[in-house]
Amino acid sequence: MMTPMTTEVDRGNMKSAVVEIDGFRGELINAGHADYDIARAVWNGAIDRRPRLIARCIGAADAVKAVRFARDHNLEIAIRGGGHNVAGTAVCDDGIVIDLSAMRGVRVDPANRRAWVQGGALWGDVDHETQPYGLATTGGIVSHTGVAGLTLGGGVGWLMRKHGLTVDNLLAVEVVTADGELLRASEREHPDLFWALRGGGGNFGVVTSFEFRLHSVGPIVLAGPILWDATDAGEVLRFYRDFVRDARVELGTVVRFGAAPPLPVIPANLHWRPVIMVGTCYAGPVEDGEQVLRPLRAFRTPLLDLVGPTPYVGFQSALDSTVAHGWNYYWKSTHLPELRDDLIDVIVEHAFSSSSPRSYAAMFHLKGAVGRVSEGATAFGNRQASHAITLDAVWRPGEDFGDRDTAWTRRFFAALGRFREGVYVNFLGGDEDPARVREAYGDAVYDRLVDVKTTYDPDNAFHHNQNIRPGGLLRLPTAGRRH
Ligand SMILES: Cc1cc2nc3c(=O)[nH]c(=O)nc-3n(C[C@H](O)[C@H](O)[C@H](O)COP(=O)(O)OP(=O)(O)OC[C@H]3O[C@@H](n4cnc5c(N)ncnc54)[C@H](O)[C@@H]3O)c2cc1C
Repeated sequence: MMTPMTTEVDRGNMKSAVVEIDGFRGELINAGHADYDIARAVWNGAIDRRPRLIARCIGAADAVKAVRFARDHNLEIAIRGGGHNVAGTAVCDDGIVIDLSAMRGVRVDPANRRAWVQGGALWGDVDHETQPYGLATTGGIVSHTGVAGLTLGGGVGWLMRKHGLTVDNLLAVEVVTADGELLRASEREHPDLFWALRGGGGNFGVVTSFEFRLHSVGPIVLAGPILWDATDAGEVLRFYRDFVRDARVELGTVVRFGAAPPLPVIPANLHWRPVIMVGTCYAGPVEDGEQVLRPLRAFRTPLLDLVGPTPYVGFQSALDSTVAHGWNYYWKSTHLPELRDDLIDVIVEHAFSSSSPRSYAAMFHLKGAVGRVSEGATAFGNRQASHAITLDAVWRPGEDFGDRDTAWTRRFFAALGRFREGVYVNFLGGDEDPARVREAYGDAVYDRLVDVKTTYDPDNAFHHNQNIRPGGLLRLPTAGRRH
């Protein structure tokens, strides 16, 4: 039965409309609401979209009602978890945003090493609740990133080489499908859907709850960055390549290229100096980590070595202020193979030539437990790649670096062309060729995702995402790729 909707919304008169979704308990926000502009803003300040309605859910039942309402009234649907995706797909023009940002609950069962996490939680929420027990699961390296979007795309982070991707630790979800049904999906319940949700992104429904496996981590870990001058980048990368090739899986590293950010832990005389920074986190005993990291820390004389025993939960938010909400962002990304000399030369040639001092490139070392799971076991593609690199243009409101650094990311990306080995779907931007979504999965996984999409969302109701089009559908997605 069709749920009631006010005539004002039917006429598109957003300013004055009083909107109702029968039985919806959360908040409904439209253009007439005092918080409309705050509620439609996402992490990437370059995204400026005006939904007709934001349905801020407070529970799974609200999400069911919102999906049914949207389908009944043929509204475009965007799903918002943490609102962190660079492409801004969490918000759409004119349609409804099913907004889970008020659903940030986390419950931990330390005895069984499980956590249940609501669909709008951020990684900081998860670490905050699990770390008192010395437990964690693989999450993102910025604490204000959403759990939902990150998990559904795969989830890379400091712990992945030891404990697998975030999806490798996902045990079950509760999801509202395109026909407004609330299902539980796991290896046993709707296994095809569960497979697709472990990498296929927000294509299959609104996930209201995640169940994760947890591991012993910290609460003190050996972690921190090591900085060398940018002029040493080539030598550092050659050493790094050999160092990480057979490194223990406990060691997670991310290389950051760009100006040293003005973090309190970095001395003022180094702020904004072009540096290559190798971030490290050892997911094992601190003493073992000291031994493992010794050769890297002794390579040449770093400008700064901040590696030391540190609370994992604090380390997880160390980079937060370098990627603040409301700044403007434009990304390109690709997976890369092992760092051959000619690849290193390309990286070094381009990595430090952005205009904005806030723009940077970041390269995650994969392998370890990521590559041990067979290709196709989940919907995360390209598991054998060695590195995932993002080329990130960053400029603050009012700064004029946007065009130049967007061009910088594109030039850098083009130069990496012959080395490209797929891409991580969550690092794709908002203006990508649809072929890049296939590239993110590889043909076999992509074709299987199409089958699952055709079963669970044949009308492509969920298309504000890196879209997997259902088979037999002629209509192209109309939004979600523009900004
Ligand atoms: C600064 C920064 C750092 C990052 N670091 C990492 C990292 O370390 N590791 C990593 O793996 N990724 C990282 N990412 C990428 C990150 O995984 C994606 O941006 C991800 O989409 C963020 O999730 P979100 O919930 O905040 O997304 P949102 O912007 O809220 O949503 C993006 C899309 O995800 C889907 N989605 C969101 N919530 C739900 C839901 N509840 N149910 C169904 N679909 C949903 C929808 O399709 C939506 O369009 C980073 C991103 C940024 C900007």
